[in-house]
Amino acid sequence: MEEVSGYIGNFTVTIRKKPRYVDPELCNACDECAAVCPVVVPDEFQMGFSSRKAIYIPFPQAVPCSYILNMDDCLGINPIACGKCAEVCEKEAIDYDDQGEVVTRDVGAIIVATGLDVYDPTEMDEYGYTRFENVITSMEFERLICAGGPTDGHFWTARYEFSALRPSMPVGIHVSSS
Ligand code: SF4
Repeated sequence: MEEVSGYIGNFTVTIRKKPRYVDPELCNACDECAAVCPVVVPDEFQMGFSSRKAIYIPFPQAVPCSYILNMDDCLGINPIACGKCAEVCEKEAIDYDDQGEVVTRDVGAIIVATGLDVYDPTEMDEYGYTRFENVITSMEFERLICAGGPTDGHFWTARYEFSALRPSMPVGIHVSSS
């Protein structure tokens, strides 16, 4: 959000939309682009339990249901080093020249949702996060028990490699970082 003016019930908001390099109006989420993308990186939304391509849908049920291209992961577009995703996109939805845009909206109310940083558990190793593969964070736990997660909701215990060891008695430590 770049600028806000007005008053309660009658705000004018200026918003910068960062480039996504895929036109959501054209993309039909066919997955052809990701299928040919040679870049494989850890999927941050799945807490690194699975991987994604440089062009991907950021998370299940994303709105709009359209791919985005992560320029930090892409092999490069200036000059174009790969271009495979654009070659296979029948909808011609990929735009390497996307600069993003600034839009203005009139709104009645604004919800301030600043987000948060996840605590780094390696800073507090008395609970064994770096020493025991089955010590996981609450965010990792959430991904492992989610039906849309990397294990389809099956709670495997081994971090980063899904062994057949299912926990018989999980233990939770709440608010460990406070
Ligand atoms: S141009 Fe980038 S995003 Fe597209 S296929 Fe190549 S590496 Fe992947």
